[in-house]
Amino acid sequence: MREVVLQPGRDRSVRRRHPWILSGSVAREPGASAHGDLVRVRSAEGEVLGHGDYSPSSQLRVRLVAFGKDEPAPDWLEQRLAEALARRGSDPLLRGTDAVRLANAEGDGLPGLVVDRYADVCVVRASTAAMAARRDAVVRWLEAAGGARGVVARDDASAARREGFVPADGLLAGALPAGPVEIREQGRLYEVDVLRGQKTGFYLDQRDARSRVEALAEGRRVLDLFCFTGGFAAAAARGGAASLTLVDSSEPALAAARRHVERNQRAPGLPARFVHGDAFEAARSLGERFDLVVVDPPPLARRSADVPRAARAYKDVLLHALRAAAPGAWLLFFRCSHHVSADLLRKIAFGASLDAGRPLQVAGDFTAPSDHPVSLDHPEGDYLSGLLLRA
Ligand code: SAH
Repeated sequence: MREVVLQPGRDRSVRRRHPWILSGSVAREPGASAHGDLVRVRSAEGEVLGHGDYSPSSQLRVRLVAFGKDEPAPDWLEQRLAEALARRGSDPLLRGTDAVRLANAEGDGLPGLVVDRYADVCVVRASTAAMAARRDAVVRWLEAAGGARGVVARDDASAARREGFVPADGLLAGALPAGPVEIREQGRLYEVDVLRGQKTGFYLDQRDARSRVEALAEGRRVLDLFCFTGGFAAAAARGGAASLTLVDSSEPALAAARRHVERNQRAPGLPARFVHGDAFEAARSLGERFDLVVVDPPPLARRSADVPRAARAYKDVLLHALRAAAPGAWLLFFRCSHHVSADLLRKIAFGASLDAGRPLQVAGDFTAPSDHPVSLDHPEGDYLSGLLLRA
């Protein structure tokens, strides 16, 4: 097995079980010929610290999959997948839905691999060369043990460029239903376009927040900013909302949102307005009052250098949402980037509250649900949080 040797003193984070080794910590490495291979990692003194996936073209040079001196077992991948599946199966918080994240990358000891299951279709998303190379093994396991009748690849194309692998996209094995894949989440019905939808097709990470919206929606005028396929708005429709306004820049997402609202409303004819356009702009000219507002923007900060600009954009959109919020309105305000922390989100909300001259109460917090576990060893895996605010 090829080896990566660390610079003197750069073994600390590995000993603390952090799974990433950055290029600056590396003294000697095999180079391009070991692209995507499992490598052994040694300290400068020669001690074997672990084994991991090697990415010579990436800043994240090694993603460790095992710590200590022992080589991972030949079937470590299948073992981790089985453990991840068993955790979901024994988790009462995940009852009532047939759509779960089966594998959450570092959170499940599987760096570079995400698997989402939508009913009996699994979507595999690789973001490293090593995981892309294990795709066939993952598919075999999903068909044999993961209950998949169809398996689709939706590799992360920008990661593929960065990491230097050819991204897979489309049906890998089995068969798909003729249309979208229908899922049932706590009674809500969604249609997932696993072939063309964003990421793997649906934001499973907002499941708990959707249930909260459903519970709060009765009789309320609802605004869903950055709605994608209207997961929140459809939950509000099911919860008895009085009217809906949805905003997104993606036309296909809005078309799916229309179906979701129709299929989840309590009775036909719920007034719903679908606005195609820039939500930052749309928020400035809403011209109506709302009693329940969801603000769920895209990551905005993909690097720490983006954070100040992202924070201004988040504050701006919340400020305008707040101006359109009726007295007593609920607001759900989310961030989905590790670089914008949960703490910063609170500060941003405070800034918007001051600027709007509207005191806000924090009535609750959101994180990703338990099928999106974050390893304590890997704080970077914490990307999603939200605030439930009351105007
Ligand atoms: N709330 C959604 C997920 C939002 S993801 C859900 O629960 O499913 C972010 C969404 O913002 C995407 O659908 C993307 O199309 C949209 N988006 C990105 N930039 C935008 C902009 N400037 N204006 C409006 N929508 C935008």
